[in-house]
Amino acid sequence: MSKGKLFIVSAPSGCGKGTILSEVFKERNVYYSVSATTRKPREGEINGTHYFFMSDDEFRKTISEDGFLEYASFAGNSYGTPKKAVFDKLEEGVDVVLEIETQGAFQVKEKYPEAVMIFILPPHIGELRRRLGKRGTESEEVIERRVSQAAGEIEKSLRYDYVIMNDDLEAAVKDFYTVIEAAGRGTHDADAFKAENMKNTIKEVLEK
Ligand code: 5GP
Repeated sequence: MSKGKLFIVSAPSGCGKGTILSEVFKERNVYYSVSATTRKPREGEINGTHYFFMSDDEFRKTISEDGFLEYASFAGNSYGTPKKAVFDKLEEGVDVVLEIETQGAFQVKEKYPEAVMIFILPPHIGELRRRLGKRGTESEEVIERRVSQAAGEIEKSLRYDYVIMNDDLEAAVKDFYTVIEAAGRGTHDADAFKAENMKNTIKEVLEK
C-alpha cells in the first residue's frame, strides 16, 4: 500500500483557513492532526477535538519524551504536533493535514521533505484586522499582536511550496484543490501557485 501524503497548511488566523479546508477535504478521507497547546480553550473548543489542552508541565514532558513531530511558541503559547498519530496515519495510506504556523512548518519540512507546504494569504493586512475584530473573541491588544504576527508569517510564505490567495472563498477552494491534485500526481498544473510565482501578490498583501 502506498503511504499517505502529508500537507502542511499555514495561514494567519482570520484567513478563513478552516472554511477552505473543510470544503476541500469534504469528500476525501484525510486525517486532521489534533495539536497540543498550552493556550486556554476558547469558548466552544473541546479538548481532544480542537486541541489537546495541556499545562506547561505536560507540554514540557511531551517534548522530553520526543512526542512531538514539531513544536513552537506562538503569541505567548506553545503548540506542538503529536508525532505518533501522524506517522500511523501516513503508514495506513491516509493523507494527513497539519494546520500549523511557519516555524513548525519548516521543522516538519526539514524532517519530512516530501511534505507539501501550502500558505493561505488574506486579501490584505487591513482585512485581516477587520476579520479578527469581527470574531469578537479577542481584546484589541491581542488583535494587534496577531496582526503584526501575521505580517511576519506572510513574509515567510515565500519559502512555502504553494501560496493561495483567499479573497474569494469559491476561487480559493478551487485553487487549493488544483494544488493538492497536482502535488499528488507530481504534475505542473498548479505551477501558477508556486511561491516564486506569487511573489508580487505576497508583496501587495503586505503593503495594503
Ligand atoms: P490558535 O491559537 O489561533 O488556535 O492558533 C494559533 C496558531 O498556532 C495558528 O497559526 C495555528 O496554525 C498554529 N498552530 C496550531 N497548532 C499548531 C501546532 O501543532 N504546531 C505549530 N507549530 N503551530 C500550531
